Amino acid sequence: MGFRHSRFRLLGLLPILLLCAGFVQFAAAQTTEHPDSPPGGRADAGVRKPKPRVVIIGLDGMMPEQVERYRNRIPEVDRLLTRGFFSPAIESPYTDTPTNWTTIATGAWVGTHGITSFDAHLRGMLLGDSTPTFNSRLAQAEYLWHAAERQGKRSILINYPIAFPKLLKNGVVIGGDGLTSRAWAVRHPDLITSFRRVPRGKPLILGVAKDWKNVPPSYKVLREGMVVLSEQVRIEWGASGLVGSGIIPATAERRYVLIFKDGGVTKLLLSASRDAGKPIAVLAKGDWSGWVKENFSGKECLRQYKVLDLNPEGTEVTIYGTIAAALSGWAYPPGLEQRIIENAGAYVEALELSPDQALSVGWFGTDVAKELMSIQAEWFAKTVAYLNRTEDWDLMMMHFHEPDGINHQELGKLDPSMGPEINSRADAFLGDTISILFQMAARIARECDDGHSYVMVVSDHGNLPLTKIINVQGIMMREGWTSYAKNEKTGRWSLDPVHSVAAFENSGVWINLKGRELNGLVEPGPEYEELRTKIINRLQKVTDSETGKPVFSIVAKREDLEELGIWGDRTEDVFAFGKPYYMAWSGPKSMTINIPEELMNTYRDSREVIPLATATAAGYYDRTLTADHWGLPTGTVGYASNRATFILSGPGVVPGGRAARVNLVDVAPTASHLLGIRPPEQCEGRIVWQALEK
Ligand SMILES: [Zn+2]
Repeated sequence: MGFRHSRFRLLGLLPILLLCAGFVQFAAAQTTEHPDSPPGGRADAGVRKPKPRVVIIGLDGMMPEQVERYRNRIPEVDRLLTRGFFSPAIESPYTDTPTNWTTIATGAWVGTHGITSFDAHLRGMLLGDSTPTFNSRLAQAEYLWHAAERQGKRSILINYPIAFPKLLKNGVVIGGDGLTSRAWAVRHPDLITSFRRVPRGKPLILGVAKDWKNVPPSYKVLREGMVVLSEQVRIEWGASGLVGSGIIPATAERRYVLIFKDGGVTKLLLSASRDAGKPIAVLAKGDWSGWVKENFSGKECLRQYKVLDLNPEGTEVTIYGTIAAALSGWAYPPGLEQRIIENAGAYVEALELSPDQALSVGWFGTDVAKELMSIQAEWFAKTVAYLNRTEDWDLMMMHFHEPDGINHQELGKLDPSMGPEINSRADAFLGDTISILFQMAARIARECDDGHSYVMVVSDHGNLPLTKIINVQGIMMREGWTSYAKNEKTGRWSLDPVHSVAAFENSGVWINLKGRELNGLVEPGPEYEELRTKIINRLQKVTDSETGKPVFSIVAKREDLEELGIWGDRTEDVFAFGKPYYMAWSGPKSMTINIPEELMNTYRDSREVIPLATATAAGYYDRTLTADHWGLPTGTVGYASNRATFILSGPGVVPGGRAARVNLVDVAPTASHLLGIRPPEQCEGRIVWQALEK
């Protein structure tokens, strides 16, 4: 189960063969990859009546501008757009992940499904309080897979962000706790290094090799290394309720490294003891280990190692260890995990801190990030192939989050202000990552093609370059609307609901309203309206002192924005959408609860707009981002936008069809139509008729 990047690339170049005359399809016929499969698809297809199936491939953050930008460079993209229908898709505000994977899955606008950004503030909560939205029980609208199940269809959900906790009675659910598989990580990634100075690196202590057992005679031993793997970095964002990051303790465990020459090549052997007869991996520079069994804190798991540095003398060594994935607990029905591992490898999505985050802190460069993405893409393709051949299914929905991470990290480098050299490097890297994604999509489409299958490639939002932060928390403080109190024990500050009449959270302002917020302070009626008006007037005046121009594109009452799909109890009293390049100082409650002194100091900064670097240094972001998705769903700078992507291909789809826009709420009703079922109960979208031949 080693790393198979080269094979993966080659598959993308396989000639495409059309299977069904009269049907123009993105998917090619079965390739030589599966010689045992009968023509026409699955092994058991011969006994079934043909039935339509829909596979929805979710590429987080993939924007239509990127699809078009790389079309000529990536054959899989071109083929998909030539044979299928393509349109930008407009999502609901909040232009983020939990919100819009819910929109996709329910066909309902935010006002109806009620999943409002990463944290929902609910009726009866204290001002500033909220609950994480990666929670399948929190949505107020039926999911497509439940509508399908009610109507006798069977679904497979793979790493779909809001599928957890699992509510399907009869289907397959893999992961789905938040963005990634991290909820099932036995150990988080490690960078083990003898010489590099990188954030969160673990020192490898080199010395004279002694007391090693079972060293093969061909090994010319140079030295040994020892590392203590103790605390680790954890970043979780899942239904289990945690939005957080930081250092967590772990049982200290040692790993030993024997460095030697064998046949003139310098290599290393990694082991849990000084026994060369029990290696975890034997690797030369640049090698990946493939999935190897590991054991941390008494728990068996799988991870991959790669040797990033190893000089011929063996004096400079860096080893990277991926997330160590649990062997069970992440798939339904139980017991499926082992079969997935055997056929596709360990379940990991965001192998890293995530490749983008590790890139950001200098653990490795873009080449290794691409290799990691390929490992994950390979897992998705193989998992789909395995499930396709072993499960009866009608609807398959999968989600790959990493493209969003890469966009956060790199997209802003495409901005003309960065200069041609940075532009072209970022362009090449982004193009390569998008190539990996669409090769995966092509492979999945080929696998699932039985002449009656549809493939959708969809995303949840786009991304926009970011250079400045709107210090909206500071403004709210100075106007006397929001107060913070310090916890003397922890030294941290939290929003004080007893002394605050309003608070900026997510995309706007909540009023501390009597009868709605717990211990609300503001009377409904004229007092509430007057405060709202004051806040709107104030935020409309926020300008960037460098340009003299306003930084919000719209500041308005919730009820004036119903056309954007936002209404109801779970949405803010006032919405404020920033222009591209600006992000408001909001986000989940990490911006208002338990915040450190440095962050409070930036709130106290009298500037209303703060450079991104200043805000990042104060802890606003955990790494240097160049782009973020916030503001209006239609926000654009030409080469990038907040818009999502909708691509459909399959029998009867208009080849090369285009539309100026569809809505993201249209995905579920269109998929329902293709499956021949009624859409989910609260669905508000429409069938994308212009994608279908008359
Ligand atoms: Zn997303």
